[in-house]
Amino acid sequence: APRKLAAGNWKMNGDLAALAEIDALIAAHPAPGCEVLVCPPAVLLHPMKRRIGGGPVALGGQDCHAKPSGAHTGDIAAGQLKDVGAAYVILGHSERRADHGETDAAVAAKAAAACAAGLTAIICVGETEAQRDAGETLDVIAAQMDGSIPGGATAANTVIAYEPVWAIGTGRTPTNDQIAEVHALMRERLAGKIGDGAAVRLLYGGSVKPGNAAEIFAIPHVDGALVGGASLKAADFGAIIAAL
Ligand code: 13P
Repeated sequence: APRKLAAGNWKMNGDLAALAEIDALIAAHPAPGCEVLVCPPAVLLHPMKRRIGGGPVALGGQDCHAKPSGAHTGDIAAGQLKDVGAAYVILGHSERRADHGETDAAVAAKAAAACAAGLTAIICVGETEAQRDAGETLDVIAAQMDGSIPGGATAANTVIAYEPVWAIGTGRTPTNDQIAEVHALMRERLAGKIGDGAAVRLLYGGSVKPGNAAEIFAIPHVDGALVGGASLKAADFGAIIAAL
């Protein structure tokens, strides 16, 4: 089985003072039993890297541009993330799909750029509540995977995160059976698309907390979590890491 991954997505939260949480996390978990990743806002990447050094916490961005450089005001290239010490980048998060109109094709182009720069792309998929109520969940996930995963994806450079839009920041989660159903579909879809699809890590995200982490991690084909709010505090994220 692939090595489990606990990924924290700080979204547009945190400041230089909040980097103390990373010091506390590393102090409490100097040798975690899973891979640990934190994805802060871009302005905190370099100062965070200076704090974590070569320690057990990996660093990731929350988005990148599809082009390697150029006239794209406000954007960040995958190579620039790599340059300041990032190993990962989250791509196609539902908040970026909603706020910035990112399509599956745009996400695939960004993921290809990330892989070319030597980053591992965490590609996010997930249905809205209306899509789930309409019974469209599996079709939506399959279509997002087909459209968002670039050619050349491998288990080494690609992670897929299932984040139901209605479970993000709401305190609501799917049932274990619902998570299992989607993750089984994702595994099957990957096997058809990627040679080493069985080794691609599949994360669940959406209201993962210390209290539900162990139960969610026990579901087949759940290889870790993408954690938002609970990743901001060392005590909460540490408890989730311990549950993996
Ligand atoms: P919450 O853990 O705050 O629900 O956010 C999940 C998420 O969107 C992580 O990318």
